[in-house]
Amino acid sequence: MRALREVPGRLDVERVRKDFPILRQEVHGNPLVYLDSAATSQKPRAVIEAVSRYYEQDNANVHRGVHLLSERATQAYEAAREKVQRFVNAAHAHEIVFVRGTTEAINLVAQTYGRTRVRSGDEIVITVMEHHSNIVPWQMLCEEKGAVLRVAPMDDTGTLLVDELERLIGSRTRLLALGHVSNALGTIHPVRRIVEMAHRKNVPVLLDGAQAVPHLAVDVQALGCDFYAFSGHKLFGPSGIGVLYGRSELLEEMPPWQGGGDMISSVTFEKTTYNKLPYKFEAGTPDIAGAIGLGAAIDYVRGVGVDAIAAHEHDLLTYATEALREISGLRLIGTAKEKASVLSFLLGDVHPHDIGTVLDREGIAIRTGHHCAQPLMRRLGVAATARASLALYNRREDVDALVAGLHKVREVFA
Ligand code: PMP
Repeated sequence: MRALREVPGRLDVERVRKDFPILRQEVHGNPLVYLDSAATSQKPRAVIEAVSRYYEQDNANVHRGVHLLSERATQAYEAAREKVQRFVNAAHAHEIVFVRGTTEAINLVAQTYGRTRVRSGDEIVITVMEHHSNIVPWQMLCEEKGAVLRVAPMDDTGTLLVDELERLIGSRTRLLALGHVSNALGTIHPVRRIVEMAHRKNVPVLLDGAQAVPHLAVDVQALGCDFYAFSGHKLFGPSGIGVLYGRSELLEEMPPWQGGGDMISSVTFEKTTYNKLPYKFEAGTPDIAGAIGLGAAIDYVRGVGVDAIAAHEHDLLTYATEALREISGLRLIGTAKEKASVLSFLLGDVHPHDIGTVLDREGIAIRTGHHCAQPLMRRLGVAATARASLALYNRREDVDALVAGLHKVREVFA
């Protein structure tokens, strides 16, 4: 494998680590090794400072005030929207709707697009690898409408069976909703090909990008998707803020979801008319600081370089995969050819929670459980897995610490 420093234009991981104050601490007397970024990522100082600067200098409500602070807050909030637009290459800033996170984005589409388009007997297609956030909103919709949820299968490596998926898309399909990257297995789906395939049958596509945006360059126009959802907190931004990208034509047709301030154009007791995009979908005071923090996170990611991040993580994933494969009794769950930054595994018959607890004593943070993907766990025939997930600030030493920690787990449970 190539040494990190030999590659030109490479991400300097030690410099990156200095930007994340939280990483400089000990946990149970050991240096923190944070391998849980798929659950939530850590925040660079630039994000923390952008949020506190906003509260210290500009805090005011947006869109409504004539005073200077309100103007500044509005400007910063809308500038954040434009940063998101450029980050995912949306055609227009008004195609970017600020929401609480991926979960809310998907619920918004289910409750607006879904409720107006889906009728009894219609079908929504998802995959067996989806996070509960991309299952339950569709189930709720299907229950209400008498519609049917169809589930595309995968093989034992965690690779989506695209031909099977294609067969599921029929004349009753109203939407295909799938993850861009699986949170439990790390599989990167060939979403561009899948979108083309669905569009040939006139079926719109929602992509759950929660696990993709921190690792891959995303271009919604090149992907051709109709909706794209992601969360700020997984992209080194604050929690409580996320994004729904939707193509203008679809967003225009969709009714609003929540009613309240800012989403209206005029209100009388007889009739309310709605605001233009994107405000029609942003009822109430939004998470202004969150949006500004997300904008700062995007500036940070672009500053490091999306391609440099992807290359760094790819090397690290290869290194980690090889290292874990050498641990006797360790079974990697999810070995698709195209993967991003996630290593799910089992170790002998040690319960994943026990793995996590022993590692925690060593200062190593991983996630254990069903990863909000219970149907996937059932398909795999396991109740839970241990999951280490990587981000731009992880280095080979973190992987080495994980391997040493897993040897300790084996000793404890021998
Ligand atoms: N989809 C995927 C693939 C995820 O990994 C997650 C978060 N684990 C979500 C959706 C939900 O994101 P949030 O909780 O930020 O709304």
